[in-house]
Amino acid sequence: MNISDYKRVRSKYKVTPGSTVDLSALPTAETGEFKKKKQAVKALKKFRKELAELQSRFYAWDKKAMLIVLQGMDTAGKDGTIKHVMRGVNPQGVTVTSFKVPSAEELAHDFLWRIHKATPRRGMIGIFNRSHYEDVLVVRVHNLVPPDVWSRRYDQINAFEKHLTENGVIILKFFLHISKEEQARRLQARLDTPDKRWKFNKGDLKERALWDDYMAAYTDAVQKCSTEYAPWYIIPSDVKWYRNYVVGQIITETLHELNPQYPEPEEGLDDVVIV
Ligand code: AMP
Ligand code: MG
Repeated sequence: MNISDYKRVRSKYKVTPGSTVDLSALPTAETGEFKKKKQAVKALKKFRKELAELQSRFYAWDKKAMLIVLQGMDTAGKDGTIKHVMRGVNPQGVTVTSFKVPSAEELAHDFLWRIHKATPRRGMIGIFNRSHYEDVLVVRVHNLVPPDVWSRRYDQINAFEKHLTENGVIILKFFLHISKEEQARRLQARLDTPDKRWKFNKGDLKERALWDDYMAAYTDAVQKCSTEYAPWYIIPSDVKWYRNYVVGQIITETLHELNPQYPEPEEGLDDVVIV
């Protein structure tokens, strides 16, 4: 796999800023150049090695931070993507933050307060499992705040993300796009598999019933908030191994382009004698 192959996948799934998005027309089940799982898993393994090496340099370099935002409907694979893509990366260089229903204290602040606090410091890769986008998704779908409040948040999010990127944070946003049918299969699997049952919430069925409202909210989020400095990528996610491969590839390529370097060692180390 060479760099031009990386670029192809990255541009294929990137939401061009200012473009119109029709989620129902975008693939959920495609597998790109792969016919078999084995091929993609092999490719992902190669990336993982490269990713581990790049992350090690990124950490030592200490010049930038990377923020990875994962969004998607229930069962879209936010947890699975983290587990499979980041496997092999030094845990010391990664933070994962899962955003749940805001606490009373969080609700007493502006919606970006808890988000800003969790953004990664230089040298770190920070992963958001859900994010500030919930404030224009679940909040909008359930009318948790009036329309004139959530509708102003797109500009606020763009301004916030611009502020972060101008202060050394590289932002990558992934919408894990699954079909409603695939979600049904996965929810059923959660019910049927003892080890997965704990993940099943009856509440997820209520969200599922609002599928179309969520798709409308996601459409606005990716249309209004895909920018050159913080693009959205829409990842076909019905096939888990392809989803992992694509997300892994985009992260790896982005780090590759940054070309992080180990800092110069102190001078005079050749003369050091350890006694
Ligand atoms: P899970 O990711 O399955 O652990 O669920 C977390 C829940 O928290 C989801 O139902 C989210 O929609 C919800 N959540 C996250 N952020 C917000 C928010 N800002 N306002 C309301 N609910 C939220
Ligand atoms: Mg859940």
